Amino acid sequence: GFPVIALVGRPNVGKSTLFNRLTRSRDALVANLPGLTRDRHYGEGRLGERPYLVVDTGGFEPVVKEGIVHQMARQTQQAIDEADVVVFIVDARQGMTPQDSLIADHLRKTGRPLSLVVNKAEGMKHSAVVADFYELGLGEPCAISSAHGEGVRDMIEHALELA
Ligand code: GDP
Ligand code: MG
Repeated sequence: GFPVIALVGRPNVGKSTLFNRLTRSRDALVANLPGLTRDRHYGEGRLGERPYLVVDTGGFEPVVKEGIVHQMARQTQQAIDEADVVVFIVDARQGMTPQDSLIADHLRKTGRPLSLVVNKAEGMKHSAVVADFYELGLGEPCAISSAHGEGVRDMIEHALELA
């Protein structure tokens, strides 16, 4: 089947905006995939001729209190389990948050291939934007703007290389 890319991260980092950009006007194709017809969290994206599936998730609860696993929506964990690669999205405007560190720790333990993406980077210097996030230990962060489409193609190319 198609490689499956799960979009994961705190609320409001731009997961759904990225999902919409990646899957724009491909609803008809998604509707033809057996088993996925009624699940609006799945969409089809394409890199050139190469199709992939992308999964939007509700993300993680904003309050970190009882351990990350308890807070994660079951659906998010399911999406991670089914993914060939997990795109972990953080917010350039907010910078690193404690929740980001906890989510990163959790994702690392899942053993899924991970790609770290810093969203909302439009109009910002990319080297400065990503500097904060190296300490998550997930490799080189990729700066993008989902809203403006900047860096999205390179980001998907990189994610698919890991899948
Ligand atoms: P989600 O909760 O992670 O799904 O986040 P959403 O996709 O719903 O976006 C949350 C907010 O961030 C919305 O107001 C979006 O318009 C905004 N947003 C998403 N992507 C970008 C971006 O690339 N740049 C900026 N400046 N805002 C963005
Ligand atoms: Mg959303």
